[in-house]
Amino acid sequence: MQQAGICKGCWQQLRVPIVLRGPFSVPFRLVGLRPSRMNPNLCTLCEMMFTRIYKVQQMSVPATILFADVRGYTALSEMLDSPQVARLLSGFYETCGTAIWDRDGIIIKLIGDAVLAVFNFPVRQEDHPYQAVMAGIDLQRRCRAMKATLQETTGGDAPLGVGVGIHTGQITIGEVGDFCRDFTAIGSVVNLASRLQGAAEPGEVLVTEEVYRQVGDHFPQTQSRRCQVKGFEQPVKAYALGVETP
Ligand SMILES: [Zn+2]
Repeated sequence: MQQAGICKGCWQQLRVPIVLRGPFSVPFRLVGLRPSRMNPNLCTLCEMMFTRIYKVQQMSVPATILFADVRGYTALSEMLDSPQVARLLSGFYETCGTAIWDRDGIIIKLIGDAVLAVFNFPVRQEDHPYQAVMAGIDLQRRCRAMKATLQETTGGDAPLGVGVGIHTGQITIGEVGDFCRDFTAIGSVVNLASRLQGAAEPGEVLVTEEVYRQVGDHFPQTQSRRCQVKGFEQPVKAYALGVETP
């Protein structure tokens, strides 16, 4: 992945160059400013903005939420031994991280074998729904490559697949921050993205009507389908984007 020399968030919003890498990063590290684990192109100050400050003073921002999770994981854990499963999972997180960070998203929380990413905060992006979709497509492409390698290792058909769900709207930062600790404090945008991910077939990037309206020009003639998702009475209109036939 592309590594930024200075924190993208601090530079974009404050015009302050926080050096993340190389010899000039030493004084910053001494005061605790390091690359964030949510996104190594951001610093720990940006991370704090997300996790602490906005918890006190709740703030609503437009953002796009991406959920990804591994399918066939249970079947795989029966086929592989535990070090192999651990390697597979860390490979998946690394793959997700690269795809998301390359598009300036941040990873809020890894829930079991799922990943939740936010786009448009703290790095602002005019086209955050598009960036999230492209990250999702890139993630699927990388996971297909991972699967091919895995099939060589296991010498058979590895039942590995990844489902991706994306929704966009106003999110409350405190809400997402709390989500780290409390799964029930999930907001409606985050909730629908998560449910849609559940409805996605392995290999699919499934997006809502709200997302498609903003990225449709890049994916013309995509057919919509109605998905019955948990917790929603009416079926949700969704679009599968960038699916390549294997
Ligand atoms: Zn920063």
